[in-house]
Amino acid sequence: MKVVALAGGVGGAKLADGIARILPPEDVTIIVNTGDDFEHLGLTICPDLDTVLYRLAGVANDETGWGRAGESWRTITEVAALGGPDWFRLGDLDLATHLMRTHMLREGESLTAVTHHLCQKLGIQVSVLPMSNQPAPTQIQSGDTVYPFQTWFVQEKWQPPITRVLLPEDVRATRSVIRAFETADLVLIAPSNPFVSIDPILNVYPIRALLMDLPQAVIAVSPIVGGQAVKGPAAKMMQELGLPHTSRAVAEYYDELIDGFVYDVQDAGSCDGLAVETRCLDTMMYTAEDRTRLAQEIIEFAEVLLKD
Ligand code: GDP
Repeated sequence: MKVVALAGGVGGAKLADGIARILPPEDVTIIVNTGDDFEHLGLTICPDLDTVLYRLAGVANDETGWGRAGESWRTITEVAALGGPDWFRLGDLDLATHLMRTHMLREGESLTAVTHHLCQKLGIQVSVLPMSNQPAPTQIQSGDTVYPFQTWFVQEKWQPPITRVLLPEDVRATRSVIRAFETADLVLIAPSNPFVSIDPILNVYPIRALLMDLPQAVIAVSPIVGGQAVKGPAAKMMQELGLPHTSRAVAEYYDELIDGFVYDVQDAGSCDGLAVETRCLDTMMYTAEDRTRLAQEIIEFAEVLLKD
């Protein structure tokens, strides 16, 4: 079974890792949100790509869910001492990734090629693709103020209430992304933030249309568990956008894009009667074993959907 997973950072990376642990690498493609990317201290930073790469490489920080294990912070501490910005934490090991990426981009390589290079060097065998090679910055509108995504997310600690998520027009998918959809049996929408991790991917032309037309099955996994986001602003955003912060509302938000929906045992029964097939599973991925088990159960669900 050829699987394409759409992923943001923390939740996306965990499911991507589970899938990578159970399927042959040539059958797995992870398409990652780059709407959070930004330029900072002269460097091109791709937070979701890095979270996915570090997780797949086995060097992720398990406590934070982002960044590298065994990290040190000498450089950013010195940046602050020199009067520079330190609101976006850049660890010393992490900085090596940003330096290499920025260097290669300036040499004229595409983000896809840079990501491929980093995967090779980090020993990652599955295919990890940025959703586009073009910049595609997400912005957050709060009342009359429009924030660049990281300013809202990190500097403002996602507190300004959200009025709207602004996504750029005319961003195109790469040929490798399109090819991945063309050969996919199953597309998984990871338990990532629907508004600022998944929507930015779907907004890249022609990904939404490909998702509607091509794969035999599309399954989404709920990032909302027990009415709360496991991490980050997803539940708060749902409330501010006038949606109930429930798994059911996530399924209804994805609507006709999906054929199957996986939600957590804590919400058992809450998705009964939906128009799509559902599976109620333990979706909390604390350990590698959790990630493997959930991936296995989702693949079993997909096999049933693909037979129908
Ligand atoms: P970000 O870009 O780093 O914010 O990452 P994502 O959008 O990929 O992930 C954030 C979402 O993942 C949040 O809405 C969390 O609720 C969800 N999430 C994180 N860990 C888990 C998990 O173990 N299980 C489930 N079901 N959702 C999770």
